[in-house]
Amino acid sequence: MDKKFRFSIWYFIFAFWLLIMLQELYFTAQHRNEVPYSQFKSWVMQNKVKKVEILETVIQGELYPEREGQAPQRFQTVRVDDPDLVHLLEEKGVEFTGVAVSTLWRDVASWVVPILVFAAIWFWILQRVSQGAGGGFMRIGQSKAKIYMEKDIPVRMSDVAGVDEAKEELMEVIEFLKTPDKFTRIGGRIPKGVLLVGPPGTGKTLLAKAIAGEAGVPFFSISGSEFVEMFVGVGAARVRDLFENAKAKAPCIIFIDELDALGKARGTGPVTHEEREQTLNQLLVEMDGFDPRVGVIILAATNRPEILDPALLRAGRFDRQVLVDRPDRQGREAILRLHARHIKLAPDADLGKIAAMTPGMVGADLANVVNEAALLAVRRNRDMVHQTELEEAVERVIAGLEKKNRVLSPAERERVAHHEVGHALVAFMLPGTDPVQKISIVPRGIAALGYTMQLPTEDRYLLTKSELENKIAVLLGGLVAEELVFGEMSTGAADDLQKAANIAKRMVKDYGMSETVGRVALELTPPPAFLKPGDVSPRGDYSEQTAREVDEAVKGIIQTQEERVRTILTQLHPVLREGAHRLLEQEIMTGQELQEMLAKHPVGQPAPVS
Ligand code: ADP
Ligand code: ZN
Repeated sequence: MDKKFRFSIWYFIFAFWLLIMLQELYFTAQHRNEVPYSQFKSWVMQNKVKKVEILETVIQGELYPEREGQAPQRFQTVRVDDPDLVHLLEEKGVEFTGVAVSTLWRDVASWVVPILVFAAIWFWILQRVSQGAGGGFMRIGQSKAKIYMEKDIPVRMSDVAGVDEAKEELMEVIEFLKTPDKFTRIGGRIPKGVLLVGPPGTGKTLLAKAIAGEAGVPFFSISGSEFVEMFVGVGAARVRDLFENAKAKAPCIIFIDELDALGKARGTGPVTHEEREQTLNQLLVEMDGFDPRVGVIILAATNRPEILDPALLRAGRFDRQVLVDRPDRQGREAILRLHARHIKLAPDADLGKIAAMTPGMVGADLANVVNEAALLAVRRNRDMVHQTELEEAVERVIAGLEKKNRVLSPAERERVAHHEVGHALVAFMLPGTDPVQKISIVPRGIAALGYTMQLPTEDRYLLTKSELENKIAVLLGGLVAEELVFGEMSTGAADDLQKAANIAKRMVKDYGMSETVGRVALELTPPPAFLKPGDVSPRGDYSEQTAREVDEAVKGIIQTQEERVRTILTQLHPVLREGAHRLLEQEIMTGQELQEMLAKHPVGQPAPVS
């Protein structure tokens, strides 16, 4: 069951219990000193009763005090249908009254009071929840989503290093916040939402703050993950508040950290999360509802753009994405230099060397390295930070990161470099593949140790058989390169193999591109909506025999391509070596650089485009 729902059930049970207790109390208070009717009657006979009040269902009365000065004792008894009673009371001289009307009020009160109490409790709970105050068992439900507003931010763009591309892209946002009029006059497209995409600690928050600092505007921030633990409706109200406050302070920046916690694609999980959906919907409504000319720019950060609800990325929302990637070697050096401003470096400190030692580290890690080094120097009573402290600090930070984030060993890096260059070389040699933009071995998390970025030349609707085969060949380039250079492949090729197998399967089963299986479409028609080219469609209805033939055909396609790739890479072995070494040195290499190396090689002329 949903956590929040369970808690609200507890509140309900608690309130209900309270209600019953109150009624009980009310009841016993009314019925204190209840005596049997016979007892009452005998008191009357004994002249002990001073006065009685005959109500609809009970008789309440007062006895004469037993001794002088004592308070009169009150009692109550059930009213019995006794026609002689009035007679008897008159006879004994007991004062008596009948109050029939007042019981109506009492009846009403006995209903209204508990309801009021109930409502008051409920109101109190809601109050506490929305104020986010309080303790005890109420703490679970309290709202953590706080809107922070900061003015006069001291952070500047010069405090962010190693992410020059992102900085450049964001300069325009600063320009707009500084002089919104200029943009409105010229009628340029004003950004509304900018999504900063990148791993944690690369400086996304820092960049957002630097924009606010440079433009001299207030900075509103809120974190997506804080919305998740709230009562339905509270998150949406917070979003509304946020935009209202921001609009009042425009020009300004709204920064939503961890947008993925809030903006997960709707209705994909096993349980739909109503609170998150409401909050997300409210965010969409607010983003659509304001005119960017008021000068509010929404920045959001995420490290998982792929799980975001596509609605968030539509035009007029977060339609601009800025990659804030892990820094390369030069970037790392710049970041180290920046953080070393505040410490005294000894002449032997070599930040370039430290940068070379720390592939895969992000800005936050590097800031940590400098900090650790300074602490070590203090502990050693040194008045400057030497290279030894810096290197030791790197080791400490790596040890701390090892559990979270893999940092590759030198041997692994060498393997990854050859693997990536393998992909790139095959892509260069085969016609109709997307040109290689960039090759990188800057680790980016566990899934991809390196990557070869191919930019598609044009949007393609049709792919020919040979183009699909070439795609498979490029995917196999990595593992074949590993085998050629190191004698065996590694687990690093699992993802490539899966992609290659998917393409081959679709060639056989959906496109009828296999001679042995023939011109058949074996999959269900129509295929499920939104199937991407790489996805495997669900299995259709065909025989075991056909299934075996399909498997054989898929294997055949991949084998043929593997042989082709092996021929290409064997011929290009020297280029593979040279490229990998350059990549190890620089961590990032452009496609251009590799192509120049290739051009010097006799067989390195790319195949003519057929
Ligand atoms: P993110 O929001 O991407 O998770 P932060 O902006 O919170 O990362 O970064 C945390 C800290 O790490 C920053 O306050 C800063 O000290 C340091 N840092 C991160 N990236 C950089 C960078 N590119 N340049 C300088 N310092 C950085
Ligand atoms: Zn690969």
